[in-house]
Order: sequence, then C-alpha cells, then structure tokens
Amino acid sequence: MKMPIIKLTKVSKSYQRPGEGELKVLKDIDLEVAKGEFVAIVGPSGSGKSTLMNILGLLDRADSGEYELAGKNVSQMNTSELARTRNSTIGFVFQQFHLLPRTTAAENVELPLIYSDHKQGDSRKKSIDALCRVGLEDRLSHYTNELSGGQQQRVAIARALINSPDIILADEPTGNLDQVAGRQIMELFQELNDTGSTILLITHDRQLAQMASRTVYISDGWLAANAPPDPDNIDFVQRGDATPAETRQGVSA
Ligand code: ADP
Ligand code: MG
Repeated sequence: MKMPIIKLTKVSKSYQRPGEGELKVLKDIDLEVAKGEFVAIVGPSGSGKSTLMNILGLLDRADSGEYELAGKNVSQMNTSELARTRNSTIGFVFQQFHLLPRTTAAENVELPLIYSDHKQGDSRKKSIDALCRVGLEDRLSHYTNELSGGQQQRVAIARALINSPDIILADEPTGNLDQVAGRQIMELFQELNDTGSTILLITHDRQLAQMASRTVYISDGWLAANAPPDPDNIDFVQRGDATPAETRQGVSA
C-alpha cells in the first residue's frame, strides 16, 4: 500500500455504563486506507461503526492505540490542533442531512467557509462549483426544504467538499433514502472517487457496499482482518484484493 492517509493500530474504545460496567465497543482495530481509496465499512447496527467514524473524524478519542492521519499522530494533538486538522482534512456526511431549512442550497454549502477566511464572492463561487459537482446546478437558490431527500444529501455532500478535504467520511449516508436515491448517492461517491477523493463510507447495506472499491467488515467491535476466526460467519470475508472495476461488477463478491 502507498503511504496510508489513515492508519489505525490497535485502536480500542469502551464506554462506561453506570451500574453495568464497561462496554467494549472497538477492539484492537487495525485499519489502513490509502489516498484515493473508496472503502465501505459494513456491519450490523450496534457493531461500533459510528464510534469508529467519530474517532476517524477526530470527534472522539480512542482509549488506546495509535491513529495517524495524513502522516500525523493524532493521539498527541491538543483540542485546537484536532479542530484545525478536522476542518482542513475531513468532510462529513451523515444520515440526517443537517441542513438549515428556509435557507438556499448555495447558502448551506457556503456555511463552513464562514469559519475560514474567505471573501464573500469567493465563497459563493466555491459553493456553486461544489453544487455543480454534485449535479445540482439547477437548484442553487432552492430552499433545502423544497428538495427531495436525495437532493438534500447532495447539498450535504457539496458542503462536505467545500474546504477541499483530503477525506470524506460518510456515516450511513443512504440510511434515510429510498433504494433508487441511495444508489444514485453511491454513484455520486464513485464519481467523486474517480476524480481523486478518498472516501470512507459506513453502511449496513451490503448491496450498496459493493459499489465501493473495498469492503471492510465490522462485527461486535472487531474488524474483519483481526477478528477471531469464525468460518460460519460470512461477515468475515475479505475482498481487499479486488480492483475497483472488478468489485463494482461484482466479480469478487
Ligand atoms: P453502530 O453505528 O454500528 O450502530 P455505535 O458505534 O453507534 O454502533 O454503537 C456501538 C455500541 O456502543 C452500541 O452498543 C451502543 O449502544 C454503544 N454506545 C455508543 N455510544 C455510546 C455512548 N456514548 N455511551 C454508551 N454506550 C454507547
Ligand atoms: Mg451508527
């Protein structure tokens, strides 16, 4: 693998539950993602996907283990370094679109630029560019509450792209969409990946996961590669050797 943009080594995370003791949610996770990859992380509800995503996105810290993001050791960063790195490196997409209603698509996409130093004309141009990339050039001045679910998720993706992040992290981005819209959003991620974006996408939908170039399985806090051997559990099938084209055609599925 080329120099990985994400490298987790033995990352673990537990939650303390009052009266019930410790709940181990992530167990010795090893994961490397190279620049330009499109990786799907697949697992059932409660398996630790969002916890993993929050750590990858610098929204939460691991209890133990190492996390290197773009060559920097995250474990040693203070809060303001974490925030700066997060803003410049990562674009987030969530299941809930988190858009402002009664606000136009273009204004929603511009929002992250308010926090960085941008002239207003610049911001609008960037926002329009981002909306064009997601196929919404004809919806720039629509209020977000006038858009379909799939279109709203496109606005959220444009907003994630606005700071030119190194990585897009998407947590169940198709979870609130019907099958057709979900598939279209996955196709959009494929297009963004084809033009250079590194994408890490969480889903519990194996069918959709096949549209990524690599799938990693998580089950009960274990990632496939270092899970205990369990031949009866078809979750633990590694498809890491397939090329994106093969995977997309389902050759290696
Ligand atoms: P997934 O995204 O795969 O559905 P999560 O990462 O959200 O799973 O949760 C994994 C496990 O951790 C679940 O059992 C969940 O109830 C528990 N959990 C998640 N967040 C917390 C928290 N803040 N405090 C305690 N338990 C939590
Ligand atoms: Mg989740």
